[in-house]
Amino acid sequence: MNTTVSRRSRRQQTKLWRAPVVRVARLTPRMTRVTVGGPDLADFAYAGTDQNVMLYFYPDDVELPEPLTLAAARGMWSQVRPLTRTYTVRRYDRDACEIDFDFVLHSDAGPASDWAKRAEPGDRLIFVGPSPAYQPDPTADWHLLAGDETALPAITAILRELGPDVPVRVFVEVEDASEEQPLAGPVTWLHRDGTDDLLARAVAAADLPTGRVDAWLAGERASMVALRRHLLADRGHDRSRVRPTTYWRRGETGN
Ligand SMILES: Cc1cc2nc3c(=O)[nH]c(=O)nc-3n(C[C@H](O)[C@H](O)[C@H](O)COP(=O)(O)OP(=O)(O)OC[C@H]3O[C@@H](n4cnc5c(N)ncnc54)[C@H](O)[C@@H]3O)c2cc1C
Repeated sequence: MNTTVSRRSRRQQTKLWRAPVVRVARLTPRMTRVTVGGPDLADFAYAGTDQNVMLYFYPDDVELPEPLTLAAARGMWSQVRPLTRTYTVRRYDRDACEIDFDFVLHSDAGPASDWAKRAEPGDRLIFVGPSPAYQPDPTADWHLLAGDETALPAITAILRELGPDVPVRVFVEVEDASEEQPLAGPVTWLHRDGTDDLLARAVAAADLPTGRVDAWLAGERASMVALRRHLLADRGHDRSRVRPTTYWRRGETGN
């Protein structure tokens, strides 16, 4: 297991960043990659796995102070408060001073997916972070990674960190075959069928390794509830070994 990046998380510092978009690439019909860059990002305390930041979206007509620091942004909260959404650091390149964010372009427009749909080089992205990062348990007998497409950036980074010799099973729910992405190692891809327990049913039907699991799970809330219930109630895993995170809630904005 690669522990180099994990150690960095202990000295991560929360800061406000304002970085220009340098590239936009459509990965699949419903996923777009926005790369931001600039010399300031050399100081970004990258910790890998599911590390994330909070994006700040201000109304277009707001005049923001220069420099826009976290203290200055908070000082303006009584007049203007940004809409905030959380996104995973899909890739950080210290030499190039770049960060990739992968956005799901869901049909129910929200400020983040809407911004990503229209993003072009030169646009500015404001974000605060980074967060701490999940540290895979090196003593686990095997790892379970499961989620929907919003979890793909984190799953990709976690797989990279685990390396090829660690036993891992991966389940990802996406819209259809056009949304599958190349990942290191075998993945069970599931195509959405309108139910909340698709991931739970697929994990229930799978022939999984035995022993102490370290389960990292992320996606829509109802799906996480069903999956966690299965792992605890049916498979008998200890609750401390199962770590679900709600990344979004159907019919609700924000997170
Ligand atoms: C720690 C963390 C990391 C995350 N990392 C990523 C990431 O790297 N990439 C990513 O794409 N998302 C990621 N998410 C999820 C993302 O923050 C949410 O999907 C967010 O709600 C999108 O904001 P929005 O402004 O586009 O939509 P909102 O304004 O929040 O919601 C508008 C409507 O869209 C629906 N909706 C929201 N998200 C989805 C979705 N994915 N599919 C279908 N409908 C949806 C809502 O239910 C609501 O009805 C992460 C969330 C967390 C907590």
